[in-house]
Amino acid sequence: MELRHIALNEIEPQGRTITVSDRAVWEEPAAEYHLQCRIVEPVVAEVFLLPQSDGCLIRGTIRGVVAMPCNRCMEETLVVLNQSFDEFEEYPAPAETEPEEENPAGLLDECAVTMEGGAPFLDLASLLWEEFSLALPVKPLCRPDCRGLCPECGKNLNEGACGCSRDSGDPRLAALRQLKVKHQG
Ligand SMILES: [Zn+2]
Ligand SMILES: [Zn+2]
Repeated sequence: MELRHIALNEIEPQGRTITVSDRAVWEEPAAEYHLQCRIVEPVVAEVFLLPQSDGCLIRGTIRGVVAMPCNRCMEETLVVLNQSFDEFEEYPAPAETEPEEENPAGLLDECAVTMEGGAPFLDLASLLWEEFSLALPVKPLCRPDCRGLCPECGKNLNEGACGCSRDSGDPRLAALRQLKVKHQG
């Protein structure tokens, strides 16, 4: 089945369940948008499509395990995905459907459903990518109290203190540093 071009008018009235386990659905856009995200355990989506007269009910889950760099220390951090979604994609009115050549290049369609010759087509891969990226933490942390990297020497402070004196330094120097920060702002 072509995930980017599902003919919704060919789906049975009782709906259809689709399982998506193709890594490319997640890996290709991740690479395109420079999202550091490595699949550790297969990411699988189960989707139920139920077309109605004016749109399509799309219900599903995305499950799997990915690894992302910790927002503070950059160590690889496991993210367990268990995302449910329940959407209703309205069919665009014919008047709102711009001919493809008038769309500015590179702009994503806001709607995952497009009308072609009066028939609705669903870009399920795009919809799943959107749900997948919504499920990822904006700032993944390896642990809630991650100490991050020393801004001076770059050492991972979770592994112990470094030789730098930024926290225990001379209070007069600390005051100077604060002044510098204020001047920058
Ligand atoms: Zn961390
Ligand atoms: Zn240091």
